[in-house]
Amino acid sequence: MIKYTKIFYESRGRMKGIQAFREYTKKIEDMRHAAMIISWDMETKMPKNGAEAHIASLTLLSSESFKMMVADEMKGYLDELTTEESMSKLTAIDKKMIENMKESYDEVKNIPPELHTRLVEVQSRSQHAWKTAKHANDFETMIPYFEEMIALSKEVSRCIKPEQDPYDTLLDSYEKGMTAEKISRVFTELRDGIQPLIEAISKKPRYDDCKFKGEYSKEAQKALAHDILHVMGYNFDSGRLDESEHPFTIGDAPHDVRITTNYDVTDMRPSLFSVLHEGGHALYEQHINPLLVGTFLNRGTSMGIHESQSRFYENIIGRNKYFWENHYHQVVKRFPAYKDISLDAFYKSINSVEPSLIRVDADELTYNLHVIIRFELERALFDGTLSVKDLPQAWGDKMKAYLGVEPGCHKDGVLQDMHWPNGMFGYFPSYALGNIYSGQFLMQLEKERGSIDELLKEDKMGQITEWLEHHIHQHGGMKKPIEIIQDTCGTGLDAKPIIKYYTEKYTAIYGL
Ligand code: ZN
Repeated sequence: MIKYTKIFYESRGRMKGIQAFREYTKKIEDMRHAAMIISWDMETKMPKNGAEAHIASLTLLSSESFKMMVADEMKGYLDELTTEESMSKLTAIDKKMIENMKESYDEVKNIPPELHTRLVEVQSRSQHAWKTAKHANDFETMIPYFEEMIALSKEVSRCIKPEQDPYDTLLDSYEKGMTAEKISRVFTELRDGIQPLIEAISKKPRYDDCKFKGEYSKEAQKALAHDILHVMGYNFDSGRLDESEHPFTIGDAPHDVRITTNYDVTDMRPSLFSVLHEGGHALYEQHINPLLVGTFLNRGTSMGIHESQSRFYENIIGRNKYFWENHYHQVVKRFPAYKDISLDAFYKSINSVEPSLIRVDADELTYNLHVIIRFELERALFDGTLSVKDLPQAWGDKMKAYLGVEPGCHKDGVLQDMHWPNGMFGYFPSYALGNIYSGQFLMQLEKERGSIDELLKEDKMGQITEWLEHHIHQHGGMKKPIEIIQDTCGTGLDAKPIIKYYTEKYTAIYGL
């Protein structure tokens, strides 16, 4: 996932003109940078007892930024710079920056600063409490946090857009222009497209995975992670790889984009694929046009587009047979035990489909159902048809209905993800939207550059990355998600390409 520090845009005022505005917003970006480092430290290096002080600093930075965002000075700048005459003199980048700032200002200006501070504080405390609650399998402790965050999120959403459904406002904050209705439509199409495949695969013999279990040292896994990141073109002068409980990417693009992974010493594959995933997020940010630094546009345009890039590298490239034809020797070099495992067996293992309990461990196909379940549950939490205390039961029911499996404990169920404890309601759909977008990008790439199998067979990874950089990465926030899709593929959101990709791929692997 991508980790954003919850910091709002700030601004002061009085000084005139774009130059003064740029100087002013630079201070907000500097605060965001500091918040990024504190957040990264909390997850990677911080001693346990450092949490209180870290949370206090993050809360302060976020509150100060927020105050500057809604200050009269900010309004002064925007009033001055958004006149027709001023806009006509601005560069395309400055113009976009001002437009986005105006949009953000209009959204947050009616949020009382105390309400914002309260939400940030509850989110930080809840996230911290969840770590203990998850290990203790204790859902009860989290009930008041969830209830308060849902109430606060609704209140904030009503301040942003009083006339709009609060859940739509939350979705819009991760994916501009997205609504629950649009998502529901496209997710239904996706679900109907993949369920027959999962059904057909379930009738085939189960893939025996035991030869992949063994002893895999962290050091060797880290070395392989570095090898693969080099293959991807990740720039270590503008990033680093660390270890955290849950893998994430965090950064100040394009010059400092950090990723983390987690090592399972009994199986090297989970970390390998999390590195491909986070590496995909990181490439997006490392390729953002450096001219966008200091404009608030030097970040991915939306969570869905971000996920499309991580999933492109993790699944479309990282689970492709031809990619491994060229790079399997690197795995064998780091793990001599893999000498006895054929490339074909490895390929089948990384594409084996089997319903499971944990989203992050799910295969490429069933993963989408994990996301659809979360979307349906959080929508129900927000429209009041589901109460927090009934969440574990509803979770179990949906898992059973969609995947045929039910968790035996909260840790494998409702407490597995950090999103809800972190107050990130409306984020989950991004994952499946990312899969859908990635299918659209794949279809267009193949139209323009030929089959991806051929490109990977000839080890032309650079050509694929260059295409993604050209159409998606470099633009950062200069284009909205729908503009990226429209300009690149000439269509709107469409689930058909990814369904076609799944159908062809799994029909071949499983002989359906
Ligand atoms: Zn991700």
